[in-house]
Amino acid sequence: VKAAQRGRIRLRVTGGVQGVGFRPHVYRLALRYRLGGLVGNDSEGVFIEVEGSDLDLSLFKNALQAEAPPAADIQRLSEQTMSVAGQTEFRIIVSESNGIPRVAVSPDLHCCRECREEIANPTNRRFGYPFTNCTNCGPRYTIIGELPYDRASTTMRSFTMCGDCAGEYQDPADRRFHAQPNACPACGPRLSLSLTAIVESLRRGEILAVKGVGGYHLVCDARREATVARLRRGKNRLSKPFAVMVQDLEAARRLAFVNQHQAELLDGSSRPVVLLQSRGVLPDAVAPGLSTVGLMLCYTPLHYLLFSEGAPDALVMTSANQSGLPIAAEEREATSQLRGLVDRFVHHDRSIEVPCDDSVVRSFRGQTLPLRRSRGYAPFPIELPFIVPPTLAVGGQMKGTLCLGRGKQGVLSQHLGELENLQTLHYFQHVMEHLKQLYQLTPRLVCADPHPNYLSSRWARESGLPLVEVQHHHAHLASCMAENGLGRDSMALGIILDGSGYGEDRTVWGGEILRGGYRGIERLAHLKAVPLPGGDRAVKEPWRMALSHLWSAGLEWPSEIPPVRHANQRELPLSALKIQLENQINTVPTSSMGRLFDAVASLLGVCQEVEYEAQAAVLLEQVADHAETGSYCFGPGFDPGPVWEAIITDLAGQTSPGAISMRFHRAVAKTLGALAREHHEGLPVALSGGVFQNCLLLELVVAELEAHGIAFLTHRQVPPNDGGLSLGQLMVGVVRYQEEGGTVCA
Ligand code: ZN
Ligand code: ZN
Ligand code: FE
Repeated sequence: VKAAQRGRIRLRVTGGVQGVGFRPHVYRLALRYRLGGLVGNDSEGVFIEVEGSDLDLSLFKNALQAEAPPAADIQRLSEQTMSVAGQTEFRIIVSESNGIPRVAVSPDLHCCRECREEIANPTNRRFGYPFTNCTNCGPRYTIIGELPYDRASTTMRSFTMCGDCAGEYQDPADRRFHAQPNACPACGPRLSLSLTAIVESLRRGEILAVKGVGGYHLVCDARREATVARLRRGKNRLSKPFAVMVQDLEAARRLAFVNQHQAELLDGSSRPVVLLQSRGVLPDAVAPGLSTVGLMLCYTPLHYLLFSEGAPDALVMTSANQSGLPIAAEEREATSQLRGLVDRFVHHDRSIEVPCDDSVVRSFRGQTLPLRRSRGYAPFPIELPFIVPPTLAVGGQMKGTLCLGRGKQGVLSQHLGELENLQTLHYFQHVMEHLKQLYQLTPRLVCADPHPNYLSSRWARESGLPLVEVQHHHAHLASCMAENGLGRDSMALGIILDGSGYGEDRTVWGGEILRGGYRGIERLAHLKAVPLPGGDRAVKEPWRMALSHLWSAGLEWPSEIPPVRHANQRELPLSALKIQLENQINTVPTSSMGRLFDAVASLLGVCQEVEYEAQAAVLLEQVADHAETGSYCFGPGFDPGPVWEAIITDLAGQTSPGAISMRFHRAVAKTLGALAREHHEGLPVALSGGVFQNCLLLELVVAELEAHGIAFLTHRQVPPNDGGLSLGQLMVGVVRYQEEGGTVCA
C-alpha cells in the first residue's frame, strides 16, 4: 500500500542559490524527510531530484522555501514529475563547469549568528578568529575569480585547509560543507596586528587603516572630535560625511532615530550604510553641518570582535582612499596612499580579487532608496524585463558603475567612484574584466553616454565594439522603467531631475519632462535654461549659479544677499561674472534642476561652495521647515523667474530660510505635478535623476501624483543618481541597436 504513495519529482531552483549554503540545506531536508535522490549546481542554478512518500515530498517542498538559507534568493522554483527509481540514498553531485554560467555570484555576506556564537565561545576552536565563515556567510564576490564557485577559483586557494577544516568541508551534514572560504586559526588568513593592540590603539584616539572585505577602511573613535578632525585634515576632506559603524541596533538607536524599515535595512544581510536622522550626540566633525548620520552595523567577524574586545562604541569607518582615487585594496597601495595619514595599519593575507566600497541607502516610505549600490548587493543581477544579447554599458562619469547584460540579467557593478583619472579608469577596466570572467560573457555591443569628454564614453568609442550612445536623461528614464519591470514596448512620462547631462542640443540638461520608452524620447518640457557660467566652477561654487539665476530673471544683485556677500568677502570680481553672463563668455545654457537647488541654497546662505556632489541640495533639504505650508509659483514654461522674485521679497521680509526652502520644494513639486497632469496621457510617471535622492522633494512630488491618481515609478533597486545610468543605457542601447537593423547574436 505504501509503495503506491511514493513519488519522484525534479525541482529546478534559480536565483541567488549558489555560494549561500543551498545544497547542504537541501541535503539536510532530504535526510529529515527520508528522501532518496540528488542535488547539484549547474549553469542554471540548483537542480534537485527527490523521491519518497507524497506527504514527505510535500513537506520537503514547503521547507525548501520556508527554511531557505538567509542569503538565498529563490527567484523561480519549477517542478516536474518523474517515474520512481527506487532510490533511497541522497547524494550531492559535484559542480558542473560546462555551459554558460547563468547563476548569480553571491554578494559578500555578513557574519551569521552561528559563526558569531563560535567566535565568542572560548571553548570553540574559532574563538576570537576574525576570518570565521560558513556556507551561510563570509566573503564571496570580492574573493571569487571565476565560476563555478569552488575554493580553487577564490583567493583562498593559497591556504590549505587543516584536517579539522577539511573534515567540515567534506561533511554534507556540516554547516561548512563546501564553504569555499572555510578557515580557522590553524590554517587560515591572519591579521598583522592583534585584536587587543587594535582596540587599545582605537581607545587612545589613533587612526587606523584596517583591511576588510572589499578594501581598507579608515577607522577611529567617532566620539573623539580631535581625532575625527585630524582624519579630515589628513584626508583633505573637510565636509563630506563619514560613515559610522556600531555594534547593534541598540547602539544605532543611541546615535540616531531608527524606524522599523530602517532597522530592517541596518540589520539585514546587505549591511549598507543607512542615512538616518541624527540625535546629535556625535561630534559635528563626523558629518559637518548635517542633521543626518550614516550608520552601519558590524558585518565581518573582525568588526564583532573589535566591539566585544572593548573598542569605542561608535567607529568612523570610511573607505581608505585619497580623494578621487578608488578604495585601496592591497597592502602596497594602502601604505603608499595612506602613509602620514594613519597611525597604524592592520593588514591581512587574504587577497581581494576585486575591491568594493560599502553601500549607502535611504529609506523612503518603507522602501529602500539606494544611493550607492555596492558591497552586499553587487554583483547580484537586476532582473531585466526582456531578453538582451551580451552587452556592456559603461555608465557615466560621476558615481560610475558598469552593467553587463545577457538574457534577462543585468549585472550592475559595484560603485566605481568618479571616473576622472587613470586610476579610476583602471579600476573600471579591472571590474569589467572580472565580471566578464565571472559570467563568461563577451559583449558584442557597448552602450555609453554621448558626452564628448566622459572617460567611460571615450573608452567605449575606442573599444572597437559596435557603439550605441544613449542620451543621459533617456538612460535615467530607462533605468527606472527597467527596474520596475516595464517591457520592451512600454512608455512612460519621465520626470528626470539631476545635476547635469549632455543634451541632444549640446546644452546641459537636468530638469526634464520626457515622454517615451526604450526606443526613444520626446522632450516635452524642461526647466527654463539659464547660463552655466564657467562650467565646473559653477558646479563647485553655487554662489555663481545663484547670481546667474538672478541675472536671468532680470533681478539685481543686492549687496546684502549671501552670494554677493560671499563673493565680496573673498574679493571675487562680481563685475567679471556679469560681463561673462552678458557676453556669454564660456557659458552654456543649462536646464539643470540640481543647479537650481544649488542656487537657492546659496541665496539662503546655506552653502556657497561645495566639496561633494549635491552638498548644497542636501543642506537645502535639511533646512526645510516641514511645518511651513506655503509655496511659490513657477512662471509659464517652467520659468523660475517668479520664484526668485518671491524669494528675494521673502528674504527682505525676514522670512526664515527654513520656510523659504519649504516653499521652494513645494513649488517644484506643484509644477511637476501640473506638468505630469498635462502630459502623462495615462502613462505612469517615472521619477529619476540624482535630485530624487532628496526625500522631501520625492515625497512632495509623489503626493502630488497620488492626489491626482497618477501612477508613478520610483527607484528601489538601483540609485536614481548616475550610479543607475548604466542599467538604462543597456536597455536603450539594445533596443535601438536591434531596431536600427544591427543584429547581435544572443
Ligand atoms: Zn556563518
Ligand atoms: Zn583549519
Ligand atoms: Fe544624471
